[in-house]
Amino acid sequence: MSSDVAAAIELCGLCRVLPSGGRMLTILDGIDLTVARGESVAVIGPSGSGKSTLLGLIAGLDRPSGGSVHIHGQRIDTMSEDRLARLRRGRIGFVFQTFQLLGNLTALENVALPLELTGDRRASGGARQLLEAVGLGERTHHYPSQLSGGEQQRVAVARAFSPDPDILLADEPTGNLDSATGRLVLDLLERLRSRMGTTMVLVTHDDEVASRAASRIYLRDGRIVVREAGEGAGQAATAGEGGGHDQPQPAAEAGASPSPVARGAGR
Ligand code: ADP
Ligand code: MG
Repeated sequence: MSSDVAAAIELCGLCRVLPSGGRMLTILDGIDLTVARGESVAVIGPSGSGKSTLLGLIAGLDRPSGGSVHIHGQRIDTMSEDRLARLRRGRIGFVFQTFQLLGNLTALENVALPLELTGDRRASGGARQLLEAVGLGERTHHYPSQLSGGEQQRVAVARAFSPDPDILLADEPTGNLDSATGRLVLDLLERLRSRMGTTMVLVTHDDEVASRAASRIYLRDGRIVVREAGEGAGQAATAGEGGGHDQPQPAAEAGASPSPVARGAGR
């Protein structure tokens, strides 16, 4: 598969089965999904439907029980841990619900760390510009404990984008924030994403949040039950047959148009 034409993410018959209480528990059950480069997809579903497991498999943090995961045409589910770690480091960014900043590093050091790991000598300058882009240019020397939840998540967003990843995975990034703060964080995510051309998969159980993404998939019991492409999405995510449309299909909404890019986000 040529990397020029390959989708950013291609999941084929993806399954995850785990032993639980003496029997096998099916967590993901035959997920087919293609995400084009630069596209943003929201994954919606009730707690326990397999959203985090799906993200972990896309990131190569977990291995599937069946099916395959291709990232830009490269099959990753059979890749060695070493190669996978290298691929993840520079190309896949992650934002978690619980921020996951390193408490003994300042905001600037947290954002610079992924750049330093890729050997970028300009790590500190790049990190500073990203912190400015998320409105925290004055807080570079603060430690996570000195920042509010929203500020910590803005640092985490800056950190996720700092190695200029091809793919950004966000697992309920507003789940621990009040709605106004959550909206601000999502605006920043979308602004940086569209500026840097990043492919994004955003997990949420909030329909309002999901309506901002170009396309949406609904998970239930480890299957895709509905998929929608937003108007003006350009390139739509394509899910395979992946289960019937057994729930009412929410009205399609156009994704939020990208906001103007914050100045100084680039490196
Ligand atoms: P979501 O993110 O949609 O809430 P998860 O992907 O975290 O769902 O989990 C899906 C299901 O798999 C849940 O029922 C959860 O309890 C179960 N599960 C996830 N990870 C494990 C694990 N390591 N061992 C056993 N069960 C797990
Ligand atoms: Mg989850």
